[in-house]
Amino acid sequence: MNKPTALVTGASRGIGQAIALALADAGFRVAIHYSTREAAAHKVRQQLVGSGHVCLGADLMDTKARETLFDQTLHHFKQLDVLVNNAGIFQEDELIDLTRDQWSQKWQPTIELNLTAASHLTFLAAQHMAEQGKGRIINITSRGAFRGEPRAPEYGASKAGLNAVSQSFAQAYAAKSVWVFAVAPGFVETDMAAELLNGPKGDSIRAQSPLGRVAQPQEVGNLVAYLAVDAPAYLSGAILDINGASYLRN
Ligand code: NAP
Repeated sequence: MNKPTALVTGASRGIGQAIALALADAGFRVAIHYSTREAAAHKVRQQLVGSGHVCLGADLMDTKARETLFDQTLHHFKQLDVLVNNAGIFQEDELIDLTRDQWSQKWQPTIELNLTAASHLTFLAAQHMAEQGKGRIINITSRGAFRGEPRAPEYGASKAGLNAVSQSFAQAYAAKSVWVFAVAPGFVETDMAAELLNGPKGDSIRAQSPLGRVAQPQEVGNLVAYLAVDAPAYLSGAILDINGASYLRN
């Protein structure tokens, strides 16, 4: 039997890298997507257990590039069992200081990558998986979708939007055995969060969790591997918090 396959966006570093490692450990052939860090993506590939992995580059801000990435993945694997939309950006600013132009320049790219690109790939994968008769889509969102992002409202909006898209697709494609999940991490120790975690706010961020620390990327990777393999169908539509009890939703 063919080994199952997965496409992980933004797998050149951070959480995406940890997800790729965990999926390879679980027996997947992984398409390691990168945007600018091609060499890093190839290093990730060398670390993966098993064979048949591939590195594919695409700037997901570009609509056509998303479709090309998806088509290249299918061309390589002939099937796609799991899509993980992980690529994302986060930028903090003092809102009160922004000009109108700066606001637009802050809003647009984050929404385009974190929400529009992830939704587009979700659509492409769901259609393919429906034809295939099964598949799982896992969208990486954020705690910021729920508790407000006063220095990055576009980020909170993009992740809240992606939660809603995940739940909508879970409903739309359930009859086709396509299961869709969202994973909402709090702070994770990656390059994206490094400036904040290493700066003056680092200790107060770690103290947000009663565990006294932020998450390690592998903790998110292992949760995604669970969703890709073992999670029951009836969990489809769920948004899984992984935030060390730092923010408990009702
Ligand atoms: P990261 O270390 O900054 O990695 C981001 C990844 O996204 C990289 O692989 C990067 O590719 C890719 N990427 C950036 N711009 C892109 C573009 N235009 N087109 C395609 N790919 C692009 O981030 P991370 O901390 O691992 O975060 C991963 C995900 O988890 C994000 O969606 C983030 O919002 C979410 N998250 C992170 C945290 C946290 O505290 N770290 C908390 C909650 C949620 P290249 O490196 O190849 O350019």
